[in-house]
Amino acid sequence: MKTIGLIGGMSWESSLEYYRIINEAIKARLGGFHSAKSILYSVDFAEIESLQRSGRWEEAAGMLAGAAKSLENGGADCVVLCTNTMHKVAEEIETSVNIPFLHIVDTTAQQIKRAGIRKAGLLGTRFTMEEEFYVNRLVQKHGLDILIPDAQGRELVHRVIFDELVLGEIRLPSKERYLDVIAQMVEQGAEGIILGCTEIGLLVHAQDCLVPLFDTARIHAEAAVEFSLGTARQGSPDI
Ligand code: GLU
Repeated sequence: MKTIGLIGGMSWESSLEYYRIINEAIKARLGGFHSAKSILYSVDFAEIESLQRSGRWEEAAGMLAGAAKSLENGGADCVVLCTNTMHKVAEEIETSVNIPFLHIVDTTAQQIKRAGIRKAGLLGTRFTMEEEFYVNRLVQKHGLDILIPDAQGRELVHRVIFDELVLGEIRLPSKERYLDVIAQMVEQGAEGIILGCTEIGLLVHAQDCLVPLFDTARIHAEAAVEFSLGTARQGSPDI
């Protein structure tokens, strides 16, 4: 079994999910007393959030590249960045280490394509929904058609992430508003919805929706397990 290196804390509410999903999957696969070999480098989210808000992405990239190097030096065999938003600086992190970087967009796109879906709606922070680094990779590298909510919907989705979800607050009225945003995208032709923020899976669940949900935290964590066990599928991005 290879050692999974996790860069977490963005927020720790979702890092907890990664840790749980990874260990549950290893237990399910190997049985007995097995658990995942992993190293978690958890940052202070207040520092990252302030760099995001003030557009100081280079500084954030340096911080996360340092975390990736620490994981590599500590014996990790791969790097898993447990946030969609900070994949804006994925290249800087990836090039700072010699071990594989498991990109959240690639692992998610593989799952969407396996489900036979071409057109998907995307929920996430405003950075993830509005900037090129995320949507372009889904469209240009993976050939998917991506819908995002309208301006009002994006504002709501972003605000709930930062005012509630990353603080561990799960509120029913916010869930209902998310479901309205999802319904609008389904009406526009979305065949599935990408939960493109690692905390959204804490709020919205498969049984709440008529179309499949692609929870990036779960998909990414499960891809890390496949990597660790050496069972990543042919042609998947994580090998
Ligand atoms: N965990 C979130 C994401 O997946 C948001 C927190 C952040 O800004 O990194 O994008």
